[in-house]
Amino acid sequence: MKKNLETLCVQAGWTPKKGEPRVLPIYQSTTFKYETSEQMARLFDLEDSGYFYTRLANPTNDAVAAKINALEGGVGCILTSSGQAANFYAIFNICEAGDHFITANTIYGGTYNLFGVTLKKLGIECTFIDPEWDDERIEAEFRPNTKCFFGETISNPGGNVFDIERFAKMAHKHGVPLIVDNTFATPINCRPIEWGCDIVTHSTTKYMDGHATQVGGAVVDSGNFDWEAYGDKFAGLTTPDESYHGLTYTKTFGKQAYITKLLTQLMRDLGSIPSPQNCFLLNLGLETLHLRMPRHCENAQRVAEWLEKNEKVAWVNYCGLKGNKYYDLAQKYLPNGSCGVIAFGLKGSKEEAIRFMDNLDFIAIVTHVADARTCVLHPASHTHRQLSDEQLLEAGVRPDLIRLSVGIENCDDIIADLEQAMQKM
Ligand SMILES: *Cc1c(COP(=O)(O)O)cnc(C)c1O
Repeated sequence: MKKNLETLCVQAGWTPKKGEPRVLPIYQSTTFKYETSEQMARLFDLEDSGYFYTRLANPTNDAVAAKINALEGGVGCILTSSGQAANFYAIFNICEAGDHFITANTIYGGTYNLFGVTLKKLGIECTFIDPEWDDERIEAEFRPNTKCFFGETISNPGGNVFDIERFAKMAHKHGVPLIVDNTFATPINCRPIEWGCDIVTHSTTKYMDGHATQVGGAVVDSGNFDWEAYGDKFAGLTTPDESYHGLTYTKTFGKQAYITKLLTQLMRDLGSIPSPQNCFLLNLGLETLHLRMPRHCENAQRVAEWLEKNEKVAWVNYCGLKGNKYYDLAQKYLPNGSCGVIAFGLKGSKEEAIRFMDNLDFIAIVTHVADARTCVLHPASHTHRQLSDEQLLEAGVRPDLIRLSVGIENCDDIIADLEQAMQKM
């Protein structure tokens, strides 16, 4: 039976059989028992499927991965220990030393460092493009060794909306997949695969969990990219893997080639798995994702409109505001709302912005976004500290930017807290 997103949030992934627990159990076990040596051998020969070691598969983790896969409309999903690990795996699964990829420069600071610094040390080069450049200028950046294109549906913290359809077409024209980090929109507000995106990644730490209880990530494969059409470029998927019984992923696993390689090669060798306990917590969050997202968006819209009218506020960036640079793209990709995160700047010095944040009552200063509790952060002095002013601007982060993550409390209370803190400035 085809189910709607709300039902998938609550029900997908775990379907208990007779006498089994109604609620997804935590299989807090590294290993799984078999009756005979022969049975175990068949698992290693890939003749049988079954659980044997939690680094490769665990029933709790698999159930939650299946739920996220259903929400995004993919053919397979692997959970990772963090969003950083998810983006690293998504790229590293198809890029190796000597390869190149292209990314929007409006991305999360941690991803910016991963791509620009750490992957470079592994011999993988990346070009940061401004999504506002025209097609011709961006297309000039594709090289024979370019392997993928990357962007965030809604960028953290700038709030820029990524034109998924445009960049999917461009990537496909040049024979590479589009990877989209859909953390801020969540599949409730945008399903990138429906717009031509090939691989979706998540930091499940944010709205998916929604209660700030676990750090995690996910990679979802659409199954739509034709790796064999560009077989030479993606030899890791289209030629035998000596470390895995000489199997060729595209031949043996078809549409699930990419996600199977990610599990059997990267997870096996690098091992960034989430714990079953964390997956259980993530699943509790997912059960109410469809209820929380609309409330985050409704509150954020009201707060953004209030900020825009406030004389102490210099600028507000929220794609739900008419007149915002990304309003039209948001109407297209995020018609039911974007997310709860607003970027704004205050008139006056940086010190005054800091005083404003220190004056807040229940709105807390925390290195987090996208959970039930409203919070603020000043990226230039917190998350994005490692970046120079020039890199900050390139990543769409103005030095005076305050990132406000609007929670699901009573909106009058949120506005009252902001107001009293501004009055004390
Ligand atoms: C937080 C975040 C990440 C990194 O995720 P972690 O779970 O903190 O490792 C990646 N992308 C985006 C858009 C994020 O907001």
